[in-house]
Amino acid sequence: MQVEYCASGIFLPEIELWLDNTEPCGATWISHGHSDHARGCHGLVIGTSATLRIYRMRLWLPENEKEPEMRPLEFGETTEWHGAALTAYPASHILGAAQLLIEFRGERLVYTGDIKLRPPLRGEQTEPVPCDRLIIESTFGLPVYRLLDRDEAAAQIVSFARNCLEEGATPAFVGYALGRGQEIVSVLCDAGITTAVHGAIAKFIPIYQEHGYGFPGWEPYEARSTAGKALVVVPSHGNSLEASGKNVRFAYVSGWAALDNARSRSGAERLIPYSDHADFAELLSLVEQCRPKRIDVVHGYTVPFARILQARGWDAAAPQRASAHTSIEAEG
Ligand SMILES: [Zn+2]
Repeated sequence: MQVEYCASGIFLPEIELWLDNTEPCGATWISHGHSDHARGCHGLVIGTSATLRIYRMRLWLPENEKEPEMRPLEFGETTEWHGAALTAYPASHILGAAQLLIEFRGERLVYTGDIKLRPPLRGEQTEPVPCDRLIIESTFGLPVYRLLDRDEAAAQIVSFARNCLEEGATPAFVGYALGRGQEIVSVLCDAGITTAVHGAIAKFIPIYQEHGYGFPGWEPYEARSTAGKALVVVPSHGNSLEASGKNVRFAYVSGWAALDNARSRSGAERLIPYSDHADFAELLSLVEQCRPKRIDVVHGYTVPFARILQARGWDAAAPQRASAHTSIEAEG
């Protein structure tokens, strides 16, 4: 199958479908709700219903612009698209995140989007999909990245919070607005710890609740009332908390916390190396379970990870992204 790597996304010209196109286009698959994937006012978007729900929340429509047509594709469902069969599979990244299997003229192509292999703290677990060609990300595609599994991450989150509270300090967890933030809140709430949540994270909690995840006892964050509570905030808010002079102790929950220099970069006392992306060993395991004939590495440590795969006998490459999409211009 022809695959074109463009600055704004990946294009499959034979079936006129984009993958995670960030610029307005005719039709795109959206792998998950993070803002570097779920954006742009397109003619039609295909994704899981959770992803479409988040995409709609993010959508800013110019005046007189009509809302994109949205076609939900749930895990395990197949839909026909311009002679191809499209099937969604879970990706363990954030709620609703999906891989896309595209079957076209006897070839099976899988686009992972952002993915990890192990089960997430909250969300669906990846199913490796055997394929001929695998387009995979490599955010943590170097051997130095070894991340915690979900149970160990949850235990470290809860013990840090309890220790701080017992010592009269306020534990603050810095997480991304969508995904990590809700995971940390849900873990703390399930452990019975009252948790105050920054608005940028709180606004996505109802979507997780709709999918069955509990957040008993969470509260909106209020600067005047933090005593006896754990805080979950976004990185930009962490700085103002630090400057507030209160007895706040920070934990940094991130894949980047696998490296010692994360302590000085984040200013956090506790590093908890947990991510919604696969670590190095998981990426290798995923490749081995998919058994592709060809691998395209598209995000993160693309060149070194492709070389590592080549050294292990895989046909792997790190395609360069073109700055402009010539086919679209030709259609002009
Ligand atoms: Zn993502």
